[in-house]
Amino acid sequence: MASISFKDLPTIRCEKCDNKTFRQVVVLKKLSSLISPTGEEDILPIKVFICEKCGAICKDTLDDEILEDFKKEGIIRDIILT
Ligand SMILES: [Zn+2]
Repeated sequence: MASISFKDLPTIRCEKCDNKTFRQVVVLKKLSSLISPTGEEDILPIKVFICEKCGAICKDTLDDEILEDFKKEGIIRDIILT
């Protein structure tokens, strides 16, 4: 880990507008007591990064299933799914 230089790390860019900065938002999912590991109703926070410039979601930080769900629910309007 110590040998990794910060400057060698690629910067993630927005797929839509090429911007390099993102804002973090959180989508909250409700876990019913039936599927919750604790047996109690719970909240599952999902961190989402959205482009500061155009609002498009950063796909690299989410798995396909979550993206598909967000798209279906229209949670983030500018979601890009290619
Ligand atoms: Zn963008």
